[in-house]
Amino acid sequence: MGLLAKSTRMFEYMLPWQQANWESFVGSFGNLHHAQIITAPEGYGLREFCLSMAQYSLCSDIDKKKNTWCGVCQNCQLFSAGSHPDFHVICNELESAQGRIDIIGEYSFRYQDESVRDQKGPLKKIIPIDHIRALIEKFVQRPHIATRKIALILPADRLNINAANALLKLLEEPPEDSLLFLLSSEPSRLPPTVLSRCVQIQLQRPSHEQVQLWLKDHTASEDIDLALQLTDGAPFKARQICESGLLQIQKELFEGLVGVCRKTASPYQLSKALQNTDFEEVIKWLQGFVLDMVRWKNTGKSPWWSANSEQDLKPDKFSNERLFQVYDRLCVYRRIARGSINEELALDTIFLTIQKMVR
Ligand SMILES: [Zn+2]
Repeated sequence: MGLLAKSTRMFEYMLPWQQANWESFVGSFGNLHHAQIITAPEGYGLREFCLSMAQYSLCSDIDKKKNTWCGVCQNCQLFSAGSHPDFHVICNELESAQGRIDIIGEYSFRYQDESVRDQKGPLKKIIPIDHIRALIEKFVQRPHIATRKIALILPADRLNINAANALLKLLEEPPEDSLLFLLSSEPSRLPPTVLSRCVQIQLQRPSHEQVQLWLKDHTASEDIDLALQLTDGAPFKARQICESGLLQIQKELFEGLVGVCRKTASPYQLSKALQNTDFEEVIKWLQGFVLDMVRWKNTGKSPWWSANSEQDLKPDKFSNERLFQVYDRLCVYRRIARGSINEELALDTIFLTIQKMVR
């Protein structure tokens, strides 16, 4: 779909599992609410869908038969070149510098310093108020060449409280000819004041067969099934952990955890080895590990990482009560992971607790 669909620097336009959502968007186009929150769990193509919405909204020669934009008008060409004056992307530093879709980074650099690309320290995950103020300034002007102005805000749940309050101005008194698309994988983290002023659209999940087919075309990895299992079936995350080496790190972490349980590996060395891995990601993996154990204990379904350890690590060695205590602690860490936390110390504590959990 679209003439530029094959271009390597572009996002992939239409994903096979988003067809119904797309038809519904196109069907209601013209009567769209000025502010939409589009949600999907991380890794299901939320960004792709919203970029498609944006390009469709800007195109001046929509193909009504194929329900798509034309790909050749001035709006479409500028959009794809990353230089459309009526398209705005507000995101955090992490998304600008390390997001997987180049065009999002390119547009976002109108609002933040391009030097974050080479930044050595950690990239900020929040969206500050000045970006929203700058967007408001642009949004109150008339569109330059398209018939409307479009803004994507992502991840909208990372707006800090002041930024969210500033955004209310656009939600309550929307400038003419403007559409706001707020992208979120965790909409429950958005302030109720923002939620109540937007229409919410939830993107559909693909079937297992759709994802498997898609992944076979998009990665050469032989670990597709494991990657899907570890990412809850999320296609982009599965591809990403295959290609980025994260799958390997997770495999090593789980091997290390088995060692910690068997007391053949040191909890401290394990947390040291994870120093350069994103803390929130590690906590999510650990939650998965503990849930695997709960399932193993209560249903007998052995987890993938238990293959070489079943002789001396059996589920009757841990108690449900202890497992849930560890899980609760991980939930607390996940909640405070966005604040200041001594990550290495937190991991030491978790690994020691896991070790003590085994009888
Ligand atoms: Zn066009």
